[in-house]
Amino acid sequence: MNYLWGETRKNQIMRKKIVAGNWKMNKNLSEGLALASEVVNIVNDELNDDVTVVLCTPFIHLSQVAKIVEGSGKVFLSAQNISEHESGAYTGDISIEMVKSTGAEYVVLGHSERREYHNESNAQLAKKVDLTLANGLTPIFCCGESLEIRESGKEVAYVTNQLTESLFHLTEDEIQKVVIAYEPIWAIGTGRTASSQQAQDMHKSLRDFLAGQYGQEVADEISILYGGSAKPDNAPELFAQPDVDGGLIGGASLKARDFVSIAKSF
Ligand code: PEP
Repeated sequence: MNYLWGETRKNQIMRKKIVAGNWKMNKNLSEGLALASEVVNIVNDELNDDVTVVLCTPFIHLSQVAKIVEGSGKVFLSAQNISEHESGAYTGDISIEMVKSTGAEYVVLGHSERREYHNESNAQLAKKVDLTLANGLTPIFCCGESLEIRESGKEVAYVTNQLTESLFHLTEDEIQKVVIAYEPIWAIGTGRTASSQQAQDMHKSLRDFLAGQYGQEVADEISILYGGSAKPDNAPELFAQPDVDGGLIGGASLKARDFVSIAKSF
C-alpha cells in the first residue's frame, strides 16, 4: 500500500530524473572525446526528453566535451571537483570560475574517493557547495556511509550529518538547486549494489530529513540519485523506487551502450 502511494506521489511530483556518468580518472583526451560523442549520438537517437544525462569528466576533457554536448539539449557536462578557493596561489587546483568557463553546468562534490584520499571534510564541502551555487552551477553532492557504519546500524545518522554540515546553511531556494547522490561506500566499484529496498529506505530517510528542515514541498523537489555498482540489469529496479530519481554511475559509464541503457531504465 505504502509502495503504491509512493508511486502515485512520485508520478505527481515530477522531480528531475538524472543519470550522471562519473568517469573518474579514466580515458585520455581522445578516448574521452570518442566516448562523449558515442553517448551523445545514442542519447539523441534513443532517449526520452525527460531524462537528463550528465557526463562528469576529468578537468582536461571539459572544454572539448562541451562542444560535443552543446545543443544536444539532453546531455550536460560536469566537473568532478573544484577548489574551495575562488582563485590565487593554489598550484594544481581548479576553480569554479575555470570550470564554468568551459561550459560545464554541474560539479560533483564530496565523492567518497575525494573524502577518503584527499581528506575532504564536511566544512570544506560546504564552501565548495556555496561557490558552485554562487556561480550558477549545480552541485551533485555525494554522501554515503562505510561498511563499518552500515554494520553498526548508524548509517542514517551518519549520512544525515553529512547533509547537515555541508548543506543545511543553504536557503530554501538554494537547497532546491542541489542534486544529492547517495553512494554507500561499500557499493562503489565493488560489484555489490545496495538492494533497491536499501536504496529506497535511505533515500526516503534523506527526503524526510530534508522535509524536517525545509518542508515537504521543498524536499519533494530535490533529486536524490543512487550510486554504487549500478548497471543496466539492476538500474530498472533501483529507478522504480519512489524516492530514487536516477543514478551516479562509475564503471558502467565508461561504455556508452551500458551507460545509455541505464539512462533508459526509468
Ligand atoms: C561512483 O564512482 O560514483 C560509482 C558509483 O562507481 P561504480 O558505479 O563503479 O560503483
